[in-house]
Amino acid sequence: MPFVTPKSQQRAYDVIVVGSGAGGGQTAYTLCMDGAKVLMLEAGRRYTPETETAMFQTPDMAPLGDVGTPQKPFGFYDATVDGGWQVPGEPYVRATEEYGGRFEWWRARMLGGRTNHWGRISLRNGPYDFKPRSRDGLGFDWPIGYEDLAPYYDKVELLVGVYGSNEGLENTPNSSPGCLLPPPAPLVSDYLVKQRAGRLGIPVIPGHRAVLTRAQDHEGAPARLHRGNARAQKILAESMRGRAPCLWATPCGRGCSIRANYQSTTVHLPPALATGKLDITTGAMVYEVTLGRDGRANGVSFVDKTTGTHEHATARVVVLAASACESVRILLNSRSAQFPDGLANSSGKLGRYLMDTVGSSVSGQVPLLESLPPLNEDGADGDALYVPWWLYRKQRAGKLPFARGYHIEFGGGRRMPGFGTLAGLEWLTGGSYGVKFKEDARRYYGSFVGFDGRGEMIPNENSYCEIDPGVKDRWGIPVLRFHWKWSEHETRQAAHMQRTFGDIIEAMGGRANPAVETDGAKAIAPGGSIIHEVGGAIMGADPGTSVTNRWQQTWDVKNLFLTDGAPFASNADKNPTLTIMALAWRAADHILERMRRQEL
Ligand SMILES: Cc1cc2nc3c(=O)[nH]c(=O)nc-3n(C[C@H](O)[C@H](O)[C@H](O)COP(=O)(O)OP(=O)(O)OC[C@H]3O[C@@H](n4cnc5c(N)ncnc54)[C@H](O)[C@@H]3O)c2cc1C
Ligand code: SF4
Repeated sequence: MPFVTPKSQQRAYDVIVVGSGAGGGQTAYTLCMDGAKVLMLEAGRRYTPETETAMFQTPDMAPLGDVGTPQKPFGFYDATVDGGWQVPGEPYVRATEEYGGRFEWWRARMLGGRTNHWGRISLRNGPYDFKPRSRDGLGFDWPIGYEDLAPYYDKVELLVGVYGSNEGLENTPNSSPGCLLPPPAPLVSDYLVKQRAGRLGIPVIPGHRAVLTRAQDHEGAPARLHRGNARAQKILAESMRGRAPCLWATPCGRGCSIRANYQSTTVHLPPALATGKLDITTGAMVYEVTLGRDGRANGVSFVDKTTGTHEHATARVVVLAASACESVRILLNSRSAQFPDGLANSSGKLGRYLMDTVGSSVSGQVPLLESLPPLNEDGADGDALYVPWWLYRKQRAGKLPFARGYHIEFGGGRRMPGFGTLAGLEWLTGGSYGVKFKEDARRYYGSFVGFDGRGEMIPNENSYCEIDPGVKDRWGIPVLRFHWKWSEHETRQAAHMQRTFGDIIEAMGGRANPAVETDGAKAIAPGGSIIHEVGGAIMGADPGTSVTNRWQQTWDVKNLFLTDGAPFASNADKNPTLTIMALAWRAADHILERMRRQEL
């Protein structure tokens, strides 16, 4: 009986995992495949991608033509069923509404969390990314290095299925042989970016995304991932056989009913459930980690959203993976005489060093791409190619006005048109109507390219969250208040992105619109808006200055672990989710080992 209510839960579990997204899904998968009995508590509702995904609906079939609304910011068919920039009844507070100090928080309340919707861009951190302070004296080093995580990156790539290539570039690690799937064919616009950016000395290489370009190796991969565990191998082989390769025609943000991309609900949870070791309670809003007299965590308290009752579940080990800020919130709200400032907060660092990704965008129109013959070129739904950070040498020589780098994601081509696809052509046509407008639409459709910079933010003392003294959510649980400030490293990086994107568009013979922004403070996207928020429970080597150790185990409570992005000590330009999963697998292996030795 894998989906259980609070009343039908068992009396005690080996491990409670809070949250079912990338971190929670990976943690539960690893624990259950090795025989641990796990209870997953998820605040959102049950969600079944196989039957609920609107893969093939066209925009005209949706209310308002599928345009974004406050309830569905990414369109009616987007996979996020309960959540978004605002979650009804679950407010949060911003210390300021000023542009530079704003923090925006995207939350999903559903089984699988944000993995049902995410962009699937899956880049490894490189060796430099774990030791940034040693390189430039800013921010913090991680207590682990790339070599600690490399085997887990391999495992996650093999399990979830990631396409890409090994290019041997600086701080852009290769995967072990056989881990990556072949990359998909680029679009015409991608080839043009590659050619023209190449002339500027900017490398363009295959992207890495968690999408199956071909069927998984269901004979070899399970044996590689679960050596000596025949049952786990059999379950995983079965799961891999049930996943189809991508058909390159439908928007991944709606989810994938054929299980061709990674979602926790299609990749982690089915095999974990098949072990018979996983119980899941949905609609369970966790608000406190409870402690026994021995100072160890003995379980969690939660609100059963169906009945409104307060419940408690018990386990030997508690793992929080409710997303970085939400896990911090649970800990800050877990106050006791022993921990008056929140659980696992003896360092005073809980909530501190919140980070997002530096984001800035430019798009433009390219005459070379006008009036191309019609052809079926939906292609990969993002990142067939990308630009890794390429200016390491220049930066080392002190020739850049900021620390740390960014990568570039870009897109073009002719995707399924929706409302607004060809709105705003006036800057090219001077305004046209009727037959002339139709001609213009055919001419310009597919001639636009967009560039998004994704850069590293250095953690600072002014970007943090804390419990707001007054505001509570609909269940009376105190909410977070966010403080945010960019440093000049980030705003100058955003200005550099703008110039680079303008240069590439110009090299393509095109024009940027709107024009490139030279003021980085205006060009940078608000904090949190790239939805790569991590930090808040920094890992470190010193209990006096960090919340967790190198195993994501809290220093203060030995059987309490965090396996979302909260323990990140820095936030490299690489999108964080692959690293969240690799760290979660590593932490879960550690928990299993310590449980076997009766140390937990
Ligand atoms: C539009 C978009 C695009 C993105 N693109 C990319 C990308 O291309 N690459 C990349 O690396 N990342 C991307 N991300 C970010 C990525 O989705 C997150 O990094 C990742 O999902 C984080 O995993 P998580 O497990 O920490 O959190 P989540 O996936 O958010 O899962 C957390 C889960 O915990 C549950 N929960 C929260 N609070 C509680 C509570 N109190 N009690 C019980 N359960 C709780 C939530 O309901 C949720 O299901 C994107 C995100 C969005 C929204
Ligand atoms: S493009 Fe491929 S991975 Fe994305 S939703 Fe469609 S079939 Fe699935």
